[in-house]
Amino acid sequence: MGRFEGKIGLVLGVANDRSIAWAISELLFAEGAELAFSHLPGPSSERRVKQLLEPYNPKVVVPVDVQKDEDLERLFSRVHEEYGRLDFVVHSVAFAPPTELRKPYLEVNRAGWHLAMDISAYSLVAVSRHAAAIMPAGGAIVTLTYYGGEKVVPGYNLMGVCKAALEHSVRYLAWDLGRRNIRINAISAGPVRTLSSAGISGFDEMREHTARKSCLGRNVEAKELASTALFLLSDLSSGITGEVLHVDCGFSIVGL
Ligand code: NAD
Repeated sequence: MGRFEGKIGLVLGVANDRSIAWAISELLFAEGAELAFSHLPGPSSERRVKQLLEPYNPKVVVPVDVQKDEDLERLFSRVHEEYGRLDFVVHSVAFAPPTELRKPYLEVNRAGWHLAMDISAYSLVAVSRHAAAIMPAGGAIVTLTYYGGEKVVPGYNLMGVCKAALEHSVRYLAWDLGRRNIRINAISAGPVRTLSSAGISGFDEMREHTARKSCLGRNVEAKELASTALFLLSDLSSGITGEVLHVDCGFSIVGL
C-alpha cells in the first residue's frame, strides 16, 4: 500500500511533462494519492495537461489564473464539493513578464513587479488560505523556490525578489497555520530545464556552474525534487514547518 493511499491533494503548476509539479504528481500517484489539478486557462494548456492526465483520470481539473480570486474560489469549491476536504497542496507556480525578467533589477517597471509578485508570491498566501479552510484535520503545503531568493544570482533578477517574498511568506504562513496542524515548507531547487527556466537568461550557464561547484558535482534531477516533496507532504516530516529545504546537490553550502 502506498504512503499516500486515502490522501487527497491539489497540484497547481503542471504545464507539461517537464514541469516540476508533474514529477511530483507522478510520484504521488505511484504512492496512491488522489489528486486534483489546476492548469493555466486557455485551449493549448488545457489540451496539454488533459493529455498528460488521461491515464490517471482525475475527477477535478480546473482552469485557474492565480491572479483571479474567482478562479481560486471555483477551484477550492470544486475540491470541497468532490472530496469534502483536502490533505495537501503542491504550489509550483511562478511567472514574470519576459521583458522585465531580462532587465537588470534596477530597470524593472512597476506593472511588471506587481504582476510577478502577485503570481509568484501572493498566490501562495491566497492558495494557503483557501486550502486551510478545507483542512479540518490539518495538512501540508509545499512550494518551490530558488537560491536566487537568498543571494544575488545574475540573470535571476526580478524573480529573485519574488522568491525572497515567497520564502518569507512560508515562515509567516507556518506561524499562522501551525496551531491548526497545517505545515508549510519550501523546496529550494537546483536548476532544472523546464518551460519557465527557458525564460531566464544564462540558464544553461547556471546549470553548468551549479554542476561544477556543487558538493555532488552534478545538477539535481526532477525526481529528487519530487521525492523531497513527498517527504515534506507526508507524516515523515511531521516536525518540520516554515523551512526552506535546499535540494541542490549541496550547491548552496559552498562559499567559493
Ligand atoms: P513550469 O513552467 O513547468 O511551471 C510553472 C507553472 O506556473 C506553469 O504550470 C504555469 O502554468 C504556472 N503559472 C504561471 N502563471 C500562472 C498564473 N497566472 N496562474 C496559474 N498558474 C500560472 O516550470 P517549473 O520550472 O516546473 O516551475 C515550477 C516552480 O518551480 C516555479 O515556482 C519555479 O520558480 C520553481 N523553480 C524552478 C526551478 C527550475 O530550475 N526549473 C528551480 C527552482 C525553483
